[in-house]
Amino acid sequence: MSWEKHVRKVVPYVAGEQPKDQDVIKLNTNENPYPPAPGVAEVIRNFDCEVLRKYPDLNAAALVDALARHHGLDSSKVFVGVGSDDVLAMSFLTFFNSGKPILFPDITYSFYDVWADLYRIPYECQALDEDFCIKKEDYLKENGGIVLANPNAPTGVLTELSVLEEIIAANQDVVVIVDEAYVDFGGRSCVSLIERYENLLVVQTFSKSRALAGMRIGYAMGSPKLIKYLNDVKFSFNSYTMNPLTIAAGAASVADEAYFQEHIAKVVATRERTKRELARLGFVFGDSRTNFIFAAHKTASAKEIFEALRAERIYVRHWDKPRIADYLRISIGTDEEMDRLIAFLEQFLRK
Ligand SMILES: *Cc1c(COP(=O)(O)O)cnc(C)c1O
Repeated sequence: MSWEKHVRKVVPYVAGEQPKDQDVIKLNTNENPYPPAPGVAEVIRNFDCEVLRKYPDLNAAALVDALARHHGLDSSKVFVGVGSDDVLAMSFLTFFNSGKPILFPDITYSFYDVWADLYRIPYECQALDEDFCIKKEDYLKENGGIVLANPNAPTGVLTELSVLEEIIAANQDVVVIVDEAYVDFGGRSCVSLIERYENLLVVQTFSKSRALAGMRIGYAMGSPKLIKYLNDVKFSFNSYTMNPLTIAAGAASVADEAYFQEHIAKVVATRERTKRELARLGFVFGDSRTNFIFAAHKTASAKEIFEALRAERIYVRHWDKPRIADYLRISIGTDEEMDRLIAFLEQFLRK
């Protein structure tokens, strides 16, 4: 049939499995093992459904203002979306139209090439070095834009702020997006640089550090010009993306800084403990600054460990892809969940 010739064909992003089964130890999509701040549950319990009769606030002002205050920015520098995936997709559509290839690492968040393909944006992947670090020179050539996750996923590797700034400074003719999905777990945000670089867009999410993956909230921070262009595209596409319950729940999460800090510290402590245990069992890995560890075993096959864990109802992530097939990405759960993982690995690797 000829209509099929004119379909926009894409190979979609493959997300980690979301098993129906409640007794799976789920360490495969970097969710937070703790509940969101108690204020979020309160907002949801007390939500007045009468509000749903009307369209929501187009500008999601309650959430934008809460985020702006939290980061010490003017509200004109904040854009919110339905998860950072929405924000990133909107940013690709808005900013990468020069026809020149955009640049991102060969090993990174696997949605970047999907959006590039979807929007027909040419791209060139830049190989990370053997330690999974970016090579700065790769980002100093002519390009149509740059996207870097920092810390990177699925490697967990952090790029120094000074290196990022050099890349941003050398690329002021294009938009540079820094995806900080994991920055709260020990990275350093480059949000302070948005005052100096009009072309820098910093993207964060509520899905990992704020334990709200199911609520779908992400945001970008950048110069008022970048934010205006993003809003222009958003309002040309679908204006009412943030519903009032989400807006109120997001603002409640931002309001509870003590809870946020306390639970980040818990995940980080569990991560450091898990690193020691994995090292003891013969795993090798970089210095993860995220809520996951990307680890290879010195002798055992990652695929076999992955399958054995799965049979044991412990889900982690494994990609059968060049350069990373020897690795498992293990999200940080509660101490009890990590104990179960370690106990199983201990017994499995002894065989
Ligand atoms: C999880 C993740 C996102 C997307 O998260 P949302 O749930 O859409 O906010 C974006 N980038 C990276 C690197 C991620 O790991």
